[in-house]
Amino acid sequence: MMITVLKKGTTQGQMEHLIHWLKNQGLDVHISHGENMTILGLIGNTSKIDMELLGSLDIVESVKRVSDPFKQVNRQFQPEDTVIEVGGVKIGGGHFAVMAGPCSVETEEQIIEVAMKVKAAGAQILRGGAFKPRTSPYDFQGLKGEGIRLLLEAKKATGLPIVTEIMNANFLDLFADVDIIQVGARNMQNFDLLKELGKTDKPILLKRGLANTLKEFLMSAEYIMSEGNQNIILCERGIRTFDTYSRNTLDLTAVPALHEMSHLPVIVDPSHATGKVRFVPPMAMAAVACGADGVMVEVHNDPMHALCDGAQSLRPEQFADLMERLRIVRRAVEQ
Ligand code: PEP
Ligand code: MN
Repeated sequence: MMITVLKKGTTQGQMEHLIHWLKNQGLDVHISHGENMTILGLIGNTSKIDMELLGSLDIVESVKRVSDPFKQVNRQFQPEDTVIEVGGVKIGGGHFAVMAGPCSVETEEQIIEVAMKVKAAGAQILRGGAFKPRTSPYDFQGLKGEGIRLLLEAKKATGLPIVTEIMNANFLDLFADVDIIQVGARNMQNFDLLKELGKTDKPILLKRGLANTLKEFLMSAEYIMSEGNQNIILCERGIRTFDTYSRNTLDLTAVPALHEMSHLPVIVDPSHATGKVRFVPPMAMAAVACGADGVMVEVHNDPMHALCDGAQSLRPEQFADLMERLRIVRRAVEQ
């Protein structure tokens, strides 16, 4: 993999001529047009390319070999932030979005009520699990296809785009009208699933695995991107450490670190990260303060009777209060 930055003022004809030459050397060329420059990502066996020769061309600003194993997600490959757009909502590159909703879709009344309330509080995207990856096979596994149908009803009622988790690529057809497909922490390294999602053009919300490094996380995003799908949102949701006081340990350094390494948007899920309602607002605010492009928060109309994750689910009033506080933090850290 090599990155070639073209000089400002390079004409289309000059660029095409160079690309033709590169392709003749057996390389795939990925073109990335930025505001101030154009970058060619040379994919394939670049060992035979004469870097000196390439660098000496009039239209070439610089040539660099990329040594990181992740290429397309790499910020060197694309200096500008990727901005994901769903149903008029933008995430990344200075656009901040809040996703909220219950852990699982339970009934039509529940999902519609929560959807209306999180919308009224200012959430831009509705979350809700239909396929639930539960630690115990005896726990509620989700309403599956019916859950997606109910989410679509809630989308119709509120206009909110929806995000929901996929566990198996065999069910991809059910996700045709879903706006963002979530890959849960437990499936971060389900490479067959990632590859199938890479062949779609759906935005993918990829959650960090329970015990995965940031580089492994980016390699999973690379799996999706290498199949052609560029629309990925990374989500830090806490990792396993020796401490058990909170459900997981929220690694907030992941936010600036991922922004440094990659152009993809990074959001934080303080609900699964902490597991306790009282820790969710402070960590959501901390996520905003450290530069996250969004947060995903679990909200339930009746947490005491939730079929899943009631302990970490905010009531709608608590969520509305959090939204106010997030606005204040955003204003305080805005540059
Ligand atoms: C979820 O968001 O519903 C979920 C199961 O999260 P995670 O994969 O992060 O545990
Ligand atoms: Mn949950």
